Amino acid sequence: MLPNMFTPVRVRFAPSPTGPIHLGGIRTALYNYLFAKKNGGRFILRMEDTDQKRYIRNAESHILESLKWCGIVPDEGIGFGGPFSPYYQSKRGYIYRFYLNQLLQNGYAYYAFDLDQDLDQKRTDFQKHGIFFSYNYKTRMNFNNSLTMTKKKLAIKLKDQNPYVVRFKMNPGEQLKIHDIIRGNIEMNTNYLDDKILLKSNGTATYHLANTIDDHLMKITHVIRGEEWISSMFFHILLYRSFGWNPPYFAHLPLILKKNGKGKMSKRNYEETIDPIFPIKWMDPNTKKMIPGYRELGYLPESFINMLALLGWNPGGNQEIFSLKELEQSFSLEKIQKSGVLFNMKKMVWFNRRYLNRNKEKVFTFLCKELKKRSIFHRYKKNYLYRVIDLTIDRIHFIHEIWDHSFYFFIDPYYYDQQYLLYNHEKYQYFLHQLEKLHNLLFSVTPFTLDNLKIVFQDKVDKNMWKIYMKLMRLSLVGVFKGVDIMIILEMIGKKQSMNRIKKLINEINTKTI
Ligand code: GLU
Repeated sequence: MLPNMFTPVRVRFAPSPTGPIHLGGIRTALYNYLFAKKNGGRFILRMEDTDQKRYIRNAESHILESLKWCGIVPDEGIGFGGPFSPYYQSKRGYIYRFYLNQLLQNGYAYYAFDLDQDLDQKRTDFQKHGIFFSYNYKTRMNFNNSLTMTKKKLAIKLKDQNPYVVRFKMNPGEQLKIHDIIRGNIEMNTNYLDDKILLKSNGTATYHLANTIDDHLMKITHVIRGEEWISSMFFHILLYRSFGWNPPYFAHLPLILKKNGKGKMSKRNYEETIDPIFPIKWMDPNTKKMIPGYRELGYLPESFINMLALLGWNPGGNQEIFSLKELEQSFSLEKIQKSGVLFNMKKMVWFNRRYLNRNKEKVFTFLCKELKKRSIFHRYKKNYLYRVIDLTIDRIHFIHEIWDHSFYFFIDPYYYDQQYLLYNHEKYQYFLHQLEKLHNLLFSVTPFTLDNLKIVFQDKVDKNMWKIYMKLMRLSLVGVFKGVDIMIILEMIGKKQSMNRIKKLINEINTKTI
């Protein structure tokens, strides 16, 4: 029997600290979080840290900091406490032993004393005959386990502290039919399942045992996780049944595929991926190499989350921009697609641009910092800075690009397009002459408003001269051939500044003619 509709929704994100968290992991956390919020449920964070061999230092802090940056805040679990503490599996060994004993006593599990070399030997023998070796219902009676020895011998072996593992005794011949919320009904015959290890020889529970016990004890109603766990689902269902427990609902998320569509993105192949895959920076503990994440590359967490939410889920309709609150309201597991999703970096950049427009205050804060760094912050009013942002925001993809696109509103050009000057070196005298005329023209504009500037240029400048005037003016004001409308720059920086910059270019050209 599955949890009924009146059971409060409880979901969990259960990462293993075996490496940095990548965008697939964050998406799993996000979908769990959104599902909990949508259904007024609780989102639990549990650390599945039983695999000491694959444990990687800093992985846990990378996971926690990444979730925090994304705004995915657990209701319960690591860092938040809760009624089912501890939330670290490494601290729950005694619980797993207690429940494992039940399985042993009821004949659902057995001790296996086989040595690694014996199993390796068997594997090679099978391979020689072209058969895939599996420790299962067909082979188990040929091994050194509690099913093939007397109770007395078993007692002696245990007393003598012979190393052992505990295996699940898989009953063959049953056609399992399981419903996955995303994939529908899936079937599997237990003949294809092996006698999985539940307790390792070092005395720790395996993922399967710990995961199912914890999901039951923590009253998890829906298991939402990556597609790679789908084959484990059958075994987990059998474990629940052996304990006499109701299983939760299952929803297995589609894979996120690499750009070439081949293979999934994983935390182990980050070395070969060019597109960033970590939410925040990660320092490889072995090589000490620092790999920047979306945060360091200038992405806003809001845009990262929005992009991830739509990586496999779509509520229908044309809306693409969703705040976290909007996502919380519209999320549903039924609208998640089955097939793998292609990660599109261009779309990610597009989202970031859209979010910059919605987060001008963040751009403002960045711009203020740049001005303070140059000790010129005090010269500008808030309105002026927001006007600059409004004028340039469509030209940037990331916050840190704002200075390069707006410096000329604050400081004189620090560089002149040398290539242009060099190419036109024969026209220097002509340029100097026209710049003097421009200088005088600007002097004549009073008040120095956008309308007046337009009128003066229209009335006093010969149409044939427009092009060269604009070029010389852009060179004077910006230094290079980029930036917003010249007339707007003139008005913004004012008469004195504009005239000074023309004089500065005159000096620059003069030094070249000497
Ligand atoms: N610890 C598993 C992982 O690292 C969790 C799988 C699950 O959610 O059941 O992905």
